[in-house]
Amino acid sequence: MRRYRIALVPGDGIGKEVIPAGRQVLEALAATTSGALEFAFESYPWGGDYYRAHGVMMPADGLEALKDKDAILFGSAGDPEIPDHITLWGLRLKICQGLDQYANVRPTRILPGIDAPLKRCRPEDLDWVIVRENTEGEYSGAGGRVHKGFPMEVAAEVSVMTRAGVERIQRYAFQLAASRPRKMLTVVTKSNAQRHAMVMWDEIAAEVARDFPGVKWDKEMVDAMTARMVNRPASLDTIVATNLHADILTDLAAALAGSLGIAPTANINPERVHPSMFEPIHGSAFDIMGKGTANPVATFWTAAMMLEHLGENEAARRLMKAVETVTANPKLHTRDLGGTATTADVTDAVCSAISAARTPLATA
Ligand code: NAD
Ligand code: MN
Repeated sequence: MRRYRIALVPGDGIGKEVIPAGRQVLEALAATTSGALEFAFESYPWGGDYYRAHGVMMPADGLEALKDKDAILFGSAGDPEIPDHITLWGLRLKICQGLDQYANVRPTRILPGIDAPLKRCRPEDLDWVIVRENTEGEYSGAGGRVHKGFPMEVAAEVSVMTRAGVERIQRYAFQLAASRPRKMLTVVTKSNAQRHAMVMWDEIAAEVARDFPGVKWDKEMVDAMTARMVNRPASLDTIVATNLHADILTDLAAALAGSLGIAPTANINPERVHPSMFEPIHGSAFDIMGKGTANPVATFWTAAMMLEHLGENEAARRLMKAVETVTANPKLHTRDLGGTATTADVTDAVCSAISAARTPLATA
């Protein structure tokens, strides 16, 4: 029997709708394994409501509560009444940085039944994994404001890149590229205009590449990269980029695959000293929160990534198969995909698909 302790942090907005949906499908999956696989969920009510009650997004000992878990399933941080930089830094970045989850991994594929916007792109042309540096760079939080409120006010937002930080993310990306069938890596840069840190980024990529002779790699400027993603999607496979560059490219990738409501993310601590955190790419979606129409597919795919990370590859495969059975049916599309299905409709359908495909999981 394999039993995993999973922390649930739904956070705000539709996070509170999609994370319970994620729990429901994981429980449905466990129920088909005759006890071989079990989840012990613990839920943490952190986020905007917690902030209104306590003045902070999560308690001071919050990280400690997460440390003994096998993984974290996270919804979204972002509340209409609280500035975004407070919600983001007070919860999501606090966890990512505090648990040294330095590799943010975002796969993109066009799932069956999804009408993606690129007209000349076949589903097999778009199968990417974007690796985002997740602990430093443009989002290191270095900088400050001087002369606040006076005409001479100045603000500095300093991108900090360390040799160790760049090397470990490049190494992670090369390793991931080597493990995928096409063994291709594109290193995204901007070393023409950003002539210090991004030049070091390029140099370190070239150094790390020497350890991976089997990986075919190239370099692309981030601006040219947006055009290449749209015009030549099949020329890309694994991609590595800085915190800011990848933040933008992954939203583009999610849109090219059909919807933000589908795209998953893993925040990985590769050394497994600390638990990794799995979350849909999307945020709180203020415009649809509380309506029960959020697309839970991103969270389900995210849960599948969590299962893979835990070594439960067969369970992950079965979950994705159930998800793809459901996306293939336009009657089960939520509003973001042009349909009328609710979060509950999609969740129930995925649970049914899991139970219908019931074959006992191997007992290890
Ligand atoms: P968003 O992802 O919340 O929403 C963008 C658009 O996509 C909206 O129209 C929304 O309705 C739609 N959408 C997103 N997810 C969907 C889903 N699952 N199903 C259907 N439609 C979906 O991005 P935003 O509007 O820029 O941000 C809103 C809040 O969320 C802000 O406070 C922001 O800081 C926060 N945010 C948090 C995270 C995170 O915690 N990881 C990520 C992004 C945004
Ligand atoms: Mn983003």
